[in-house]
Amino acid sequence: MRILLTNDDGISAEGIQALACALQPIAQVTIVAPDRPRSASGHSITLHKPLRVTPVKLRDGITAYATNGTPSDCVALAIRDILDERPDLVVSGINKGPNLGRDLTYSGTVAAAMEGAILGTPAFAISVASYADDLSFAPAAAFARRLASEVLLHGLPPQTLLNVNVPGVPEEAIAGVRVTRLGRRHYPENVVKRTDPYGRVYYWLGGEPPEDVLEEGTDVKAIAENCISITPVQLDLTDYDLIPEVSTWNVVGTLKS
Ligand code: MN
Repeated sequence: MRILLTNDDGISAEGIQALACALQPIAQVTIVAPDRPRSASGHSITLHKPLRVTPVKLRDGITAYATNGTPSDCVALAIRDILDERPDLVVSGINKGPNLGRDLTYSGTVAAAMEGAILGTPAFAISVASYADDLSFAPAAAFARRLASEVLLHGLPPQTLLNVNVPGVPEEAIAGVRVTRLGRRHYPENVVKRTDPYGRVYYWLGGEPPEDVLEEGTDVKAIAENCISITPVQLDLTDYDLIPEVSTWNVVGTLKS
């Protein structure tokens, strides 16, 4: 079995190293990851500058490459060129910080797993829901190994992936594992507007933590209750229920009215 690892926190991040160590006993692991942090890069790809790939020496003899591309670039480069054979699984993470609900649309971690699914390889993204300096990736790494074995055994339907979040607590405090839907988090209006020393206005996005909406069955609630969440995600974003409604609008059919 072959597993491709990537992330959006960069190849030096502790999370991807912990993941590689956990998966090495069950598969041939190759890391292709960004050479620097790329969090919140979404599903962006690099079209207008050259991409470079540099072999990196890691402990435990794991084959690793750093690229100047995005997480999605890494997966595409790995599957299309760097790897001799197609991987059986793509795992992205372990991200430092949660990827819950609508975070998925911003997440480089999840986008890398999406790229795996687009290229026809089963994939999952895994994140720890904490930014603590002394965060342990061990519980998430152990769970990634269990889940990787199951995904390799059962496979996933085409154009789907799994998004996993692990609470940032010690292993003995994890209350269970739930299969969930995407929940909601309200981000405060956190645009900070300031003036630089030259009198020019600049903006800074983010900072304030979001307010979680604790709805039953969601990834957000699972994490709030110290449970691991597994959310199956599909790439088809079509709102099928809205097709009949929009079809009645006076813009559909011929342009002559
Ligand atoms: Mn990240």
